[in-house]
Amino acid sequence: MLYTSTRGQTDMVCSAHAITRGLADDGGLFVPQKFATLTLDEIVAMSELPYAERAAKILSFFLTDYTEEELLACTTAAYSEERFGGFAAPLKQVKDKIAVLELWHGPTSAFKDMALQLLPHLLMKAIEKTGEQNNIVILVATSGDTGKAALEGFADIKGTQIIVFYPDDGVSDIQKRQMITQQGSNVNVIAVHGNFDDAQSGVKEIFSDENLMEELKEKGYAFSSANSINWGRLAPQIVYYFSAYADAVKAGHIVAGEEINFSVPTGNFGDILAGYYAKCMGLPVHRLICASNTNNVLSVFLNSGKYDRRREFHKTISPSMDILISSNLERLLYQITEEDASKVANWMKELKEDGFYDVGGKFLAKIQKTFFGTWVDEIETKETICNVFRDKNYLLDPHTAVAWRACEKYRMLSSDEKYCIVLSTASPYKFNVSVLEAIKPDTSAKTLDPFAALHLLSDVSGTVVPKPLAELEQKPILHNEQIEKNKMKETVLKILKL
Ligand SMILES: *Cc1c(COP(=O)(O)O)cnc(C)c1O
Repeated sequence: MLYTSTRGQTDMVCSAHAITRGLADDGGLFVPQKFATLTLDEIVAMSELPYAERAAKILSFFLTDYTEEELLACTTAAYSEERFGGFAAPLKQVKDKIAVLELWHGPTSAFKDMALQLLPHLLMKAIEKTGEQNNIVILVATSGDTGKAALEGFADIKGTQIIVFYPDDGVSDIQKRQMITQQGSNVNVIAVHGNFDDAQSGVKEIFSDENLMEELKEKGYAFSSANSINWGRLAPQIVYYFSAYADAVKAGHIVAGEEINFSVPTGNFGDILAGYYAKCMGLPVHRLICASNTNNVLSVFLNSGKYDRRREFHKTISPSMDILISSNLERLLYQITEEDASKVANWMKELKEDGFYDVGGKFLAKIQKTFFGTWVDEIETKETICNVFRDKNYLLDPHTAVAWRACEKYRMLSSDEKYCIVLSTASPYKFNVSVLEAIKPDTSAKTLDPFAALHLLSDVSGTVVPKPLAELEQKPILHNEQIEKNKMKETVLKILKL
């Protein structure tokens, strides 16, 4: 299988190339040329397999330049019981016709682990295949979850250096503690005085500095990205849609072939796009519910066809969805226009230069056949956490609560009561203060120290603190470098001893 750019100006490449390069040279994203289809029997049979084998099977349709043994070796290393504390993606039946797919049992308690535990293994194999001689430097700007998940994934992986920049005042206490206690001989964690956009712009500047790139190449380094624009991050996410469906059939909640809905808390559009790809491969999906928080740019797009980033940025209690530009939407547009790369390239140019684009009625109608977009405000999010805990004794994190509420809104508006799987993207403990405020408003959780809040949440909810979070309190702080936002490039050069 070969990969092409959504903007159509580059040669086709194999998957190993797509994964090592991250972004296509024309600025587009790599997309597979076609999608294989699975039969219903193949899908249902997955319920008998361990997660690593389910993943190897789905990936084998895309990463055709990897052998089956190589894929299984990668997925077995990534999804071990030791790293995920058991089965990697358990489906919990919480209510009649609503199940929650828990994707946060990995080492960082957020769903980014599902892809970032695997990506380093795929990347190392890809380097072998492409004959890349350079040391790979992974540069990450993070608003919280990606940084830690990338650090965990790449720590002590031979031939790589990972450098994570996080905004000083933009991540939660727990997220910060997770990053500054990271062990590993090849990891670097640096606080930037500024917000997430400052950190992200700094990284983008480094990536687009051609002189610097040349110099690095001469010295034996190549940059790569662990961002969700990398195909090696997207492909692993297709797996759990199949996995969840197979488990729901096996448990008798649905019959094989029955169409179901998924509700997905969405930021960069990577997770939900993987669900769309699963549908393209024959999974019986009726609707994908795209759930946004107050940053509702996607919800507006899915209801109007207009994508407009010229709007205010809101800081919410579901910060991993606080985003104005959802990069992976570009891949959906490519599919919806039947691979019209010049159309896609034009819209992306308009977005960059004018701040908006409009896909028009025909394409909007096509998108709406599968996607339903809605958004959930802060009060509704807390209400949902509170209600589901009270009625079902199940604790949702704020991101998952947004998706749960979006599913309820969809049902009200559409009267479509199909079985729905809500994707759960973070452990409630990772956002413990907001969750406590929702279920126990009288505790003034904001004033607690982050570890006291962990223990209190455990007491109040009768659930157990995930081990990696419980252990954080005892871990020594290893990274305390702080820099001004205009010193990022200098810092990278210093780390690489150039
Ligand atoms: C990254 C993230 C999301 C958004 O996923 P996208 O693939 O960017 O749409 C949602 N919830 C949590 C907890 C996340 O970390």
